[in-house]
Amino acid sequence: MMYKQQKQRMPVEIKSKKELDLMRAAGKIVAEILDDVEQHAKPGVTTGELEQRARAILEKYGATSPFLGYPNAQEKWPPFPGWICASVNEEIVHGIPRMKRVLREGDLLKIDVGATYGGYIGDSAWTFAIGKVSDRARRLMQVTEESLLQGIAQVHNNKRLWDVIATIQHAVETNGFTVIREYQGHGVGREMHEEPSIPNFLDDEFDKRPTNVLLKPGMTLAIEPMVVTGKWDTKVLGDKWTVVTKDRGLAAHYEHTVAVTENGPEILTQWK
Ligand code: MG
Ligand code: MG
Repeated sequence: MMYKQQKQRMPVEIKSKKELDLMRAAGKIVAEILDDVEQHAKPGVTTGELEQRARAILEKYGATSPFLGYPNAQEKWPPFPGWICASVNEEIVHGIPRMKRVLREGDLLKIDVGATYGGYIGDSAWTFAIGKVSDRARRLMQVTEESLLQGIAQVHNNKRLWDVIATIQHAVETNGFTVIREYQGHGVGREMHEEPSIPNFLDDEFDKRPTNVLLKPGMTLAIEPMVVTGKWDTKVLGDKWTVVTKDRGLAAHYEHTVAVTENGPEILTQWK
């Protein structure tokens, strides 16, 4: 899950070695769930079934989902009811898993997974092709994953957050796709959404200060490009959670929790 735009308020936390160990453990659980999704997300399977499998893995480790019960930004709306997010095709993020939502050949499935373990959170998302998808969908997946990996490669001591962001945006836009503006990545640790905010674009009318963060060892970042084939405008469906593209363009989403170390990036949610 990610954050709606908000202003920078607090300094970015530096995690201790012990805290990083707990985040590694949380990240491994997240990775196991994504690996399980890859094996089971096939035509005929429901997003509700994938959620049940994810829940079983979390419970096996005594972990919980930081998404379940997460308050809606619109306070009058219900908290998030799912253990994971499952978003299909034009749905970008925050889709609610359902036993009636049957995956079909050609669907583009985004699964976002969080695990809270020992008080610390791992957060990662991946996009899965259900059966054979269109060439355009396949290209969208490749470009979005590559933008994440290129962005992560910028995570070094004394680099700026904008180096990460500019790299992601460039990787996406030079391939003819568009980054979502209204949702973004975030610091992560004891809370699912910590400082700094990590948008996926720089040329914006929003507050630019968060992107000025100097990266330091011990910072833990959830970097998550959300990329679409059409325009970046979004809307929220009647379930008050599922975010879709207004123009019904296809969406892909990849996310890793990454620690800044003395030796560059350490992906805490690595699974493949
Ligand atoms: Mg996130
Ligand atoms: Mg996430």
